[in-house]
Amino acid sequence: MERTAVYPGTFDPITNGHIDIIERAAQMFDWVIVALAVNSSKKTLFTQDERFALAEQSLAQFGNVRVMLCSGLIVEFARQQGAAAIVRGLRAVSDFEYELQMALMNRKMVQEINTIFLMPHERYTYLNSSIIRELARYGSPTIRDFVPAIVADALVQKMSNVE
Ligand code: ADP
Repeated sequence: MERTAVYPGTFDPITNGHIDIIERAAQMFDWVIVALAVNSSKKTLFTQDERFALAEQSLAQFGNVRVMLCSGLIVEFARQQGAAAIVRGLRAVSDFEYELQMALMNRKMVQEINTIFLMPHERYTYLNSSIIRELARYGSPTIRDFVPAIVADALVQKMSNVE
């Protein structure tokens, strides 16, 4: 039986921290579905189509990873996809409380789907998409250490449009 994991998030934009987690998950599961949240209440820098395209292009090297849009509850989406697990990244203790709440609530809704937490390489411990957006806003070349080249280029382009 093939095993699928769903990795949900906003990916605004996708970073090397996300990709680190996806790579680990792709080694553990037959298939990984990166579920890009569409109905998130968050206001995003990149549109849904841009976030989707950046994620897809950044993940092209993985034969068993696909990006899909997800508009409803993540556990329902995972069930529809026949997934065995939801994958989340844990960077620091500060992630833990929220993630624990979500994992327990999701398990209450769909018992057979477990949440699995993976730790990224320590170089990505302090990385998140909002820090990247902030660095890009100030034109910092450091973003290139933390996102794929196409994402860095898209950030530079986006910031020049905003100004
Ligand atoms: P959201 O904040 O909307 O859940 P994100 O796209 O920011 O979505 O994150 C999706 C998942 O990726 C979460 O589990 C988050 O903890 C994880 N994540 C984000 N950045 C990193 C990182 N640098 N290293 C490991 N996991 C990360």
